[in-house]
Amino acid sequence: MGSRSDPTTDPALRSWVPVREGSDFPIQNLPYGVFRREAGDPGGIGVAIGDSILDLAPLAGEGLFDDSIPRPRALEAPSFEGVLALGRPTWRKLRGRISELLSAGSREIRDVPGLGERVLVPLDQADLALPVAVRNYVDFYSSLEHASNMGRMFRPDAEPLLPNWRHLPVGYHGRAGTVVVSGTPVVRPWGQTKDDDDSAPSWEPTRMLDIELEVGFFTGAGNQLGTPIPIQTAGDHIFGLVLVNDWSARDIQRWEYQPLGPFLGKSFATSISPWVVTLDALEPYRMAGPVQDPEPLPYLRADDASAFDIELEVGLSSAAMSERGFSPHVVSRTNFRSLYWSMAQQLAHATSNGATAGPGDLFASGTISGADPSSYGSLLELSWRGTRPLVLPDGSKRAFLEDGDTVVMRGWCGDGRERPRIGFGELTGTIVPALADHLADGRPTIQSPRE
Ligand code: CA
Repeated sequence: MGSRSDPTTDPALRSWVPVREGSDFPIQNLPYGVFRREAGDPGGIGVAIGDSILDLAPLAGEGLFDDSIPRPRALEAPSFEGVLALGRPTWRKLRGRISELLSAGSREIRDVPGLGERVLVPLDQADLALPVAVRNYVDFYSSLEHASNMGRMFRPDAEPLLPNWRHLPVGYHGRAGTVVVSGTPVVRPWGQTKDDDDSAPSWEPTRMLDIELEVGFFTGAGNQLGTPIPIQTAGDHIFGLVLVNDWSARDIQRWEYQPLGPFLGKSFATSISPWVVTLDALEPYRMAGPVQDPEPLPYLRADDASAFDIELEVGLSSAAMSERGFSPHVVSRTNFRSLYWSMAQQLAHATSNGATAGPGDLFASGTISGADPSSYGSLLELSWRGTRPLVLPDGSKRAFLEDGDTVVMRGWCGDGRERPRIGFGELTGTIVPALADHLADGRPTIQSPRE
């Protein structure tokens, strides 16, 4: 895994590109994303630095990556599966070279006439696209506090945790095709719901639209079908991390989930942050995770520290707050390090039957809740099933999301002074009203939510 003496994470490193104090993207971060300069642009692979994006393809065109990347065309694709496939030794070389090119003492970009202007794109002038075409999406359920809260709410007379929970990272396969990038509007879904009484099921827009604060990881170079990834080398397959909002319709979920698990209550949209923060950038923030009791089976036992100290925050704005220019109201603060099952354990478990994981596979943590009620990662828990509604600065109350609400998630490591701030940028999404009942008589009318 990571070397503690990696020069790219040296806190003393500075860039010739301006980086304002408090920026998520100092030179120690260098997260990857896909951006468009204008509509219709096929997109380029970039690295965030300060308030700019470094466009990698023109640098490859100038021959500046010759020694660090064996297939420079991987940097030209409109998404970076090609980079993911290169594997950790090359990821390291590429990151080392980008760090070198951006470091204060380097003149290699500045000495080529016009190159600096060509390769540095102001962040506020670019559209950020889905960084990776998601090939597979798995969602775990790895927060002890979240799983316990769900048990307490829905099975109040039983043990909060089901018997398997402490023995394996519980998860399910989600819908890869509806993973969307930050900023994509979320249309309130219709679905089948049923009250707890003897009434018949109804067909209606969800009344219990919720968030789930999660962190996900993308795998790169993968394993062969039939050959599991051992936990000791799981980290070599993890390229980087994104914030994930696993939008959830609780009323749809509650009626449909037995016996096969989440389905339409989750698959209408899953949002991810646009910048993929590499595991190499996060190495200085690696730490021991929670003690696991009972000790897991040998295939889930790791030798090294496998948690990461990532601060997480969820903000919520009503439409009225957004119109009046209020900042999002922080409804939850928590930390990724509290997660019971580590990413290495999740990946080792997900491939333990020989299933493959490779470039474009997204594995999300499950809702991350801490022990304190202010650190819960869903509105379901924060409002305790609607019994303790949240009060927003405009005076309105929330048990679940209303139309026009905007959710903003943030994540970062470090204080930005002694320890560089390794930030994820923002993950946002706004709820737009449900469509008119276009399936009322079983024959859909043509209608687009964007119109
Ligand atoms: Ca989830």
